[in-house]
Amino acid sequence: MRKYIVAGNWKMNTTVPEGVELAKAVVEKGKDLPANVELVVAPPFTHLAPVADVLKGSKVALSAQNCADHEKGAYTGEVAVNMLTSLGCKYTILGHSERRQYYGETDEKLVEKTRLALANGLDVILCVGENLEEREAGRHFDVCEAQIKNVLFNFSAEELKHIVIAYEPVWAIGTGKTATAAQAEEIHAFIRKTIAAQFGAEAAEEVSILYGGSCKPSNAKELFAEKDIDGGLIGGAALKADDFIGIAVSF
Ligand code: PEP
Repeated sequence: MRKYIVAGNWKMNTTVPEGVELAKAVVEKGKDLPANVELVVAPPFTHLAPVADVLKGSKVALSAQNCADHEKGAYTGEVAVNMLTSLGCKYTILGHSERRQYYGETDEKLVEKTRLALANGLDVILCVGENLEEREAGRHFDVCEAQIKNVLFNFSAEELKHIVIAYEPVWAIGTGKTATAAQAEEIHAFIRKTIAAQFGAEAAEEVSILYGGSCKPSNAKELFAEKDIDGGLIGGAALKADDFIGIAVSF
């Protein structure tokens, strides 16, 4: 059955003590959520161990925001997949537009990272989405299709079960501009159709496709009511437990 997921990407925010407090508040305020809604928090690497302690025994899953494209070795500053799983991470976000834009993350690198993650039991939240220029040029379908094909199509239907897609129009991230529910649903349905063409309709039906981009308690209900929107990847609003849980109760 398709899973509903609300994942909080904390990005490079909070000190370790602040992150621990935020995680505690998420666990406490989220404890009565229905079983079919999974809460995920993705703190910075430095916070993973103490946040993992807070999440122990709760239903909140831990995610990294990135991982290395090599298994181990002389890669100064990088964090390997098995380091993340050894801390209890269930997911890693990959391909966030900020990583694509500021750190030169390419689809080729994402294939390697995804391969390593899946081989080591780490599920992937793979981000795709067009920027403003691409949207205004009417190229949003082409851009998302290419990103999906370049990365996802390198994997099997079995591996697909461990990949969540996050559609994040770059023009809506941190800008306060949200895609309308209709705009988001149009792309989500298209992404599902693209996945179905490669993996079959049944496999595509099972994939959770999250929306990301200025999602907040006031617009989550409308977005999540769409049939191909299975939750959210939340940035700014994930830094306040009340807002984050306010989104998660919107199903
Ligand atoms: C994000 O960066 O993943 C995101 C969705 O950010 P925000 O919610 O702040 O737009």
